Amino acid sequence: MSTIAHWLSGLAPGEVRLNEPLAPWCSIRAGGSADALVRPQSVETLLAALKLAKDTGTPLSILGLGANTIVGDLGVRGLTLKLPNSTFKEDVTLDDEGGVLVLSAGASIARLVTLMKQHGLVGAEFLAGVPGTIGGAVTMNAGTKNGECMSRVVSLELATADGLGWVAPPQYRYRHTELPAGVVVTRAKFRLPRGDVAASQAAMDADLGYRKRTQPLSQPSFGSVFTNPPGHHAGALLEKVELKGHTIGGAQISTLHANWIVNLGGASVRDVTQLMVLAQQRVREATGVELVPEVKRLGEFAL
Ligand SMILES: Cc1cc2nc3c(=O)[nH]c(=O)nc-3n(C[C@H](O)[C@H](O)[C@H](O)COP(=O)(O)OP(=O)(O)OC[C@H]3O[C@@H](n4cnc5c(N)ncnc54)[C@H](O)[C@@H]3O)c2cc1C
Repeated sequence: MSTIAHWLSGLAPGEVRLNEPLAPWCSIRAGGSADALVRPQSVETLLAALKLAKDTGTPLSILGLGANTIVGDLGVRGLTLKLPNSTFKEDVTLDDEGGVLVLSAGASIARLVTLMKQHGLVGAEFLAGVPGTIGGAVTMNAGTKNGECMSRVVSLELATADGLGWVAPPQYRYRHTELPAGVVVTRAKFRLPRGDVAASQAAMDADLGYRKRTQPLSQPSFGSVFTNPPGHHAGALLEKVELKGHTIGGAQISTLHANWIVNLGGASVRDVTQLMVLAQQRVREATGVELVPEVKRLGEFAL
């Protein structure tokens, strides 16, 4: 038995699933299987996984809610970590100016919005309606034209094979945070001010209404497929090349929003990736603009 297999066999029930299909764990509802999906129930297990992966050269990947991830049809080798939201402690400290909210990386983004509202704070309205975990939101610097996640983060707790520690927020830009390679975000500390909670709620209601009108929220997707190229909107470029509604197998460029791919039912990873390649080709040929995927690829792909 290999060292990794031996270690996996000693984990608590529920902490590991072998050959686990990842489609149900990803919002596009397509994708291959993880060799081992590990859900560490303690800090010790997480650190042991990181150390073991490093010492044995085993590939290690991290999955949040899978709301921005396409998993390869050939699956994910090694360990795929998915942090339960209860492994790391949540904390709220309030003062006259506002509050500091410490959230576990496995907690949902919605939890941050709930805590903000509960404590009369404002400033994270733009994250209302964004599916995913705090770890995913930090890594992706999730947001909208109204704001971005990392602008509210004052500190991050990171885990590596050497241990756990709080660090100042790294550099970030549109949909990207410069995290050191191989680290796992375990908690994020957000500073939010006090403010007009009625205006905050109204902004979130307006935003959610806009999402319902303009985004195919009832169909499996991973949100925007491509980042907006400087000076352009990816959706507008894809509409221009008349790809709205274009379908390959079970995957379709949404009829509602051209920068979204939806799973009509039974879409394969190949259907989705072929549609992405076609979209890039058409836009490149028609406009010279290179569309860069916002969606992260995880694991091995046949295509
Ligand atoms: C309906 C819909 C609407 C969306 N709307 C928006 C929007 O308005 N704005 C926006 O920005 N995005 C949007 N998205 C995309 C998605 O919600 C965000 O990117 C979100 O932050 C992804 O979080 P996740 O936990 O699902 O990340 P995942 O997809 O699971 O992972 C994304 C990346 O983060 C890494 N990662 C995850 N957790 C950790 C961790 N703890 N430590 C280190 N790395 C980690 C993964 O390895 C991967 O590289 C939307 C998606 C959908 C399906």
